[in-house]
Amino acid sequence: VRGLEGRKVAVLGLGRSGLATARALQAGGAEPLLWDDSPEARTNAEGQGFAVTDLTRERAFEDVALLVTSPGIPHLYPAPNPVIARAMAAGVPVDNDIGLFFRSFATRDWDAFDQMPRVVCVTGSNGKSTTTALIHHILAESGRPTQMAGNIGRGVLDLDPARDGEVVVLELSSYQTDLARALTPDVAVLTNLSPDHLDRHGGMGGYFAAKRRLFAEGGPDRAVIGVDEPEGLYLAGQLSVAPEDDRVIRISAGQKLERFGWAVFARKGFLAEWRKGRQMASIDLRAMPGLPGAHNHQNACAAYAACRTLGLAPRQIEEALGSFKGLPHRSQLVGERNGVRFVNDSKATNVDSAAKALQAFPKIRWIAGGLGKDGGIAALRPHLDAVVKAYLIGHSARDFALQMGATDHEICETMDRAVVRAAEEAQPGEVVLLAPAAASFDQYPNFEKRGEDFMERVKALL
Ligand code: ADP
Repeated sequence: VRGLEGRKVAVLGLGRSGLATARALQAGGAEPLLWDDSPEARTNAEGQGFAVTDLTRERAFEDVALLVTSPGIPHLYPAPNPVIARAMAAGVPVDNDIGLFFRSFATRDWDAFDQMPRVVCVTGSNGKSTTTALIHHILAESGRPTQMAGNIGRGVLDLDPARDGEVVVLELSSYQTDLARALTPDVAVLTNLSPDHLDRHGGMGGYFAAKRRLFAEGGPDRAVIGVDEPEGLYLAGQLSVAPEDDRVIRISAGQKLERFGWAVFARKGFLAEWRKGRQMASIDLRAMPGLPGAHNHQNACAAYAACRTLGLAPRQIEEALGSFKGLPHRSQLVGERNGVRFVNDSKATNVDSAAKALQAFPKIRWIAGGLGKDGGIAALRPHLDAVVKAYLIGHSARDFALQMGATDHEICETMDRAVVRAAEEAQPGEVVLLAPAAASFDQYPNFEKRGEDFMERVKALL
C-alpha cells in the first residue's frame, strides 16, 4: 500500500481481508490500529503477532488518517457499525481493501501500456464467482499470466505483485464496490441484477447504485453488461454513445443482440459473438460439462466477452470453456443412487439463483430453507412446477411451508433428516437438489459448510 507512510490507519474487521490489509499497511510503512467487535477475532489477530487497539473508545480516531473496513460490516443500513459511525463523525475517510488496492496498483504508464497488468472486475447478483473463475481459467489455459482474488478465496491485498502482461481478475460484491474510494478496472463486468442484500443497501436503488460504481465516469475501458434486466439495459444504454459503440459489450441469455456494436449472447445452447454487424463466432455450449443450464450460458457469455477484450481468439476461448470443471456448491453433482441424482447448489442463497437451479432439472426433490430473505420464497411460486416435494430445513422452514401453495412439502428442520427423507422417497429419474433460497447462518458458519454437510450425508447413503 502506497501513500500512507508514517500514518495511523484504523482497520475494522480482522478476518482474512482485514489481516491482509494490516500486513500490507505495515509493509507500506503505515501504522495499523486493529479492531474487531468479536473477542475471538481479536485473540486470533493477537495470536498472529498483531497488536489490537480499542476503536470503540472516544477519541479513538484522533490522528487517524483513514479507516479501512471489511465487507461484512454494515456501514449505513440497517444501522452503521458504531466504529464506522465514529470515524465518519470525526471526518476520517473510510475505505476498504479494494480501494487500497486500486490506489496502489501501478498508475498507467502509457508508453508501456501493452505490457501493463490489467484488472478485470466482475460484479452482479449471481454468477460472479463462476464468471470470475471462468475468466481466470480461460486466461490460464491460453497461457496468459493471471491471478484471481476478491470475494473468491483470496484477499486482494494478498495478491502477488502483478507481472508484465498479467491479468488480475477480481470478484467484487456490492458491499465492496459500495465503499471503495478508488475503483478503476480496465474491464468491468456486470453479470445480472436481481434483489439481494437489500437491507444493507437501503433498497434496490441503493443496491444498483453500489454495483454501478464500477462503471463510473473515467472508469473501465470496456464494460461487459448483462442486459436481461432493466438495470443492465439502462446501464448499457447510459454508457453507450451510440448503438454501434463497441466500448460496451452487451450480453444476454436469450435475446438476439446483432444490432449492437459488440454483443455476445446465448440462444438454444449456442453462444454467438457479433461485432459491427458481423458474426465473429458461434460456440456450442450444450455438451460443456462445467456449464450446465441457461444461467451458466450467461456466465460463459460474460467470461467470453471479457476475454475477447483482452485479445484472446474465439477458438482459444472455446477450448478453455470446454475444459472448465465448474465450482463446488454450484450445481455440483455429488453422486447417484438407484437412478436418483444428488446435486449440491448450496450457493443458491437467494431466490433468483434457486429459481435457476429449479429450472435445470425436470423432477426435483427440493431441500430448501435456512435464514430466509425478505419476501421468503413467494417469488419462486412460478418455478415450482418441477418440484415433486420440498423438504424444508432451518429457521425459515415454517415460513417457506406457508408459501408453498399446492406443492407437497414436509418440515424436516435439519439437513440430516431432509437428506434421509428425500432419498427414501425419490424415484428413479428424479434429482435430490439442495438449493436453499436462503442464507446458511442459522445453522452453519457459511454456505460452504452447509454444502459439505449435504455432501457428507449423501455420500453416507451411496
Ligand atoms: P455469486 O458469486 O454471484 O454468488 P456464483 O457463481 O457463486 O455467483 O453462483 C451463485 C448461485 O447462483 C449458484 O447457486 C449458481 O448455481 C447460481 N448461478 C450461477 N450463475 C448464475 C447466473 N448467471 N444467474 C443466476 N444464477 C446463477
